[in-house]
Amino acid sequence: MECDPREHIRRAAASAMQMFYEVSCTSSEYVKRKLWLYATAPECPWCAASEGCSLRGNGFYSRVEPAGTRIRRFLCRTVGRTVSLLPLCLASHKTGSVDRMEEHAHSAESHSIYKVAQEVEFEGAAHGGGVPGRALYRQVTRSVVAVAVFLALMRGMWPDRFAHLRPRVSDFRRHLGTDRVLVELRSLFGEDLREAPTPIGLRRERISAQLVAGYG
Ligand SMILES: [Zn+2]
Repeated sequence: MECDPREHIRRAAASAMQMFYEVSCTSSEYVKRKLWLYATAPECPWCAASEGCSLRGNGFYSRVEPAGTRIRRFLCRTVGRTVSLLPLCLASHKTGSVDRMEEHAHSAESHSIYKVAQEVEFEGAAHGGGVPGRALYRQVTRSVVAVAVFLALMRGMWPDRFAHLRPRVSDFRRHLGTDRVLVELRSLFGEDLREAPTPIGLRRERISAQLVAGYG
């Protein structure tokens, strides 16, 4: 019988889960201090707590950026599924950090996305690499849209706290008194963000191309 690789990927994704690892460091600190080594097993999210399942260490996996990043993974032996602990600073199912996404979105509130992408391109070139031109523009746009969608969702999910704010980084920074809004919101709401889409929340759902195309 032939095996469809897409089906294999779908099954693998359905049997793996990400949870937040409650560390408030930046992504470079996470790598420098190798904080994945200190991640301890959470309560098993696959089993009812009453079953007393305890997760077993199941190694690590690597991420491209920042170089050297590892993510701690655990296995539930009862159902044979895994849980990985994503530090608050890293994007979910996407390369890079949420701090960087926040910086792009914040810059785009006072400059055009084109200008933000240009700055990122200069920065990449200065470090001898980076994504060129049009691809970078799309990447920055997706990032800016994802942040705006996420903040709009936060207003909807917690109207008592955020309904009076615009879905803008500057408004949330002022209100929360931090320049790391996305990390702060992840820390405040934790597993409730399973209802919010990746790369900031934990629910795997792509933001539609129409939404990205229609932004700005
Ligand atoms: Zn379990």
